[in-house]
Amino acid sequence: TDIGSQKDRVVSEEEWLQKWEMGNIGFHKEQGHPLLQKYLDVLLNGRSGLRIFFPLCGKAVEMKWLADMGHSVVGVEISEQALKDFFAEHSLPCCEEPVPEISGAKRLQSTSGNISLYCCSIYDLSSSIVGKFDAVWDRGALVAVNPRDRQRYVSLMMTLMEKNSSCLLVTVSYDPNKHKGPPFYVPESEIKCLFG
Ligand code: SAH
Repeated sequence: TDIGSQKDRVVSEEEWLQKWEMGNIGFHKEQGHPLLQKYLDVLLNGRSGLRIFFPLCGKAVEMKWLADMGHSVVGVEISEQALKDFFAEHSLPCCEEPVPEISGAKRLQSTSGNISLYCCSIYDLSSSIVGKFDAVWDRGALVAVNPRDRQRYVSLMMTLMEKNSSCLLVTVSYDPNKHKGPPFYVPESEIKCLFG
């Protein structure tokens, strides 16, 4: 398949922040994602009390679902507005603190403690800062990453996953010559290459 038309496209952090400012967030799903409901058992695999990572989390309502089931949720997102909206829209009290290891970054945490969201670029994170995860929900994350950064993104994700970790990854399929993305088209063959 020809993904050539998208391979050099770059969406800057500034452009993402602008989308949030303008309310240009058609990717946000008010009702949560049906595929997480459908495959939740596969992701959890009978395990409870997991540490679950939401890369490029936006204000995904699935973070609340999983926290309510007793898991610990960690997300990362460059838009502070997205994170503030998340806590406000679920009436969750939160507190914020700087992250000493990352200059300019903040951590917003639900007062009950089981949702911890980092406001910074995912590329600033490492397992020494956020630890490792038992499960990952990747929806609108790999497909939002600039195509030239995909390998870097996946390599980082691998370092954040425990040995028996599982990742549910949602991708999209369409003719990449007809839309410029994001979401970018990431064919299954490329996913196999990236994750090996
Ligand atoms: N996963 C969410 C949001 C998908 S849209 C959902 O399912 O609704 C992609 C999000 O990634 C946007 O909110 C954007 O602000 C954020 N983002 C883009 N580049 C990022 C980066 N380098 N680090 C962290 N967040 C980023």
